[in-house]
Amino acid sequence: MVGTEVNFCWEKMTKSNLKTQAREMLRARKLYCTEGRIAILKVLLKAAKPLTQEKIARRLGKKRFDKVTIYRTLTSLLKVGIVHRAFLHQRAWHFELADHCTETQCHPHFTCTNCGSTHCLPDVSVPMAKSPHRGFVIQRQQVRLEGLCPACA
Ligand SMILES: [Zn+2]
Ligand SMILES: [Zn+2]
Repeated sequence: MVGTEVNFCWEKMTKSNLKTQAREMLRARKLYCTEGRIAILKVLLKAAKPLTQEKIARRLGKKRFDKVTIYRTLTSLLKVGIVHRAFLHQRAWHFELADHCTETQCHPHFTCTNCGSTHCLPDVSVPMAKSPHRGFVIQRQQVRLEGLCPACA
């Protein structure tokens, strides 16, 4: 699904503002630049960490988008791979930008067992697991690491 023309340069994009970055991401995946998509991408770009739908809604501000709109918008961004579900915590999916991930592997996440904070580890890559049996097709690998964060170590 990822062609050469959609591999945008992250380094270059961080220099432009959030709205321009959001527009470029949508254009690269041939999605219309709707107000909702741009607003959600701006929230995720600014946060630079996984957020639940509830937290995204809070950062968007109550008046602008209802729950259904946010859900639908997230779904459309998930479908084209701009956004990933990073992990499930306390029954809530945490969403984040998939810019540091490949088609088959998301960057690992580290959760501190002491304070409960979760961190993205975009520079850590883990060898892809091999399918153990016939009939199992591995499509994506997500790694969750646990331990102590720098503040708690
Ligand atoms: Zn900690
Ligand atoms: Zn992450």
